[in-house]
Amino acid sequence: MKVTQYLAEAKGPIVSLEILPPTKGKSIDSIYNHLDPLMEFKPAFVNVTYHRAEQVYKKRNDGSFERVEIRKRPGTVGICAAIMNKYKVEAIPHLICGGFSKEETENALIDLHFLGVKNVLALRGDAAANEKFFTPHPSGHRYADDLVKQIIGLNNGHYLEEDIMDGVKTDFCIGVAGYPEKHFEAPNLDTDIMYLKRKVDLGADYITTQMFFNNQHYYNFVSRCKEHGLEVPVLPGLKPLTNKRQLNMIPSIFNVEVPVELYNEMMKAKTPEDCDRVGEDWLLEQCRDLLKNNAPVLHFYTLGKPQVVYNVLKRLF
Ligand code: FAD
Repeated sequence: MKVTQYLAEAKGPIVSLEILPPTKGKSIDSIYNHLDPLMEFKPAFVNVTYHRAEQVYKKRNDGSFERVEIRKRPGTVGICAAIMNKYKVEAIPHLICGGFSKEETENALIDLHFLGVKNVLALRGDAAANEKFFTPHPSGHRYADDLVKQIIGLNNGHYLEEDIMDGVKTDFCIGVAGYPEKHFEAPNLDTDIMYLKRKVDLGADYITTQMFFNNQHYYNFVSRCKEHGLEVPVLPGLKPLTNKRQLNMIPSIFNVEVPVELYNEMMKAKTPEDCDRVGEDWLLEQCRDLLKNNAPVLHFYTLGKPQVVYNVLKRLF
């Protein structure tokens, strides 16, 4: 089922989850162990992130270095198939522009369509680890709006190879990313929302937000989106903050603020269990407030801390 259909038919709050593919060498069981307990809350869909390859320098026997590409995590197609097969829930692969030619993107979309995947999250991706700024693949997309355009093209039966007449039409529901505290490269929130609107005007069906720890950012963002004429659902992205290191790491990686009250509570925590409890209580309050204000979905970045998300959901429902 498409995300939009879930939203239209929902009779109560919808829960959804985001996971990372296991690092290479780990089995799919690490994902099942992560997801099994959370299935009690009947998530409508499970997003699977995509992690592009990194360039690293490896020392040769003669002492010189060679640049090699390594992928720490496999792609999303297999893991989406495994999740759909085991749990009978919708899996949503994240598709990124970075590192992909249009041809490779098309092939991935065809595979996903064959598998019965109905939803994708279309993203640009960040700069490669060895680059300062995002550089598109020479025959790929520079921004996520072009990726949305390609997916919509395939939904209309337009393949890159012009010889393909009457090509089967895919039917992807497309999500895109939104940033309540603005994307770090955007000069201001209005410009960022203007480009977000472009993705929606091209055919994106909904927006999933970057994490935020102060709901006011989400409410402001939703109303600013409305002012810009954006009518699609905005799904709030939620992450438990569960250790002191994250107080500085999360703002620097994701460009989001940690409210002073959360910072102070976390600094008072003495043990890892205290830290978990601070993060859990904060997330629980965020969720309660979002539900009171009719947020369409609670979308959890479960990465690394499924137990905290489990506890929050147990206390909520
Ligand atoms: P875009 O929409 O392309 O925007 C990027 C920047 O360019 C913004 O500042 C925007 O204002 C500007 N812009 C957009 N279009 C144009 C245009 N046409 N002309 C000029 N400027 C423009 N990354 C991963 O690598 N893998 C993942 O699985 C992943 N999942 C994510 C899930 C969510 C919910 C979110 C919020 C982010 C995720 N990311 C992921 C991170 C994301 O790839 C980065 O934040 C990336 O820097 C921007 O992606 P985007 O799709 O928002 O880009």
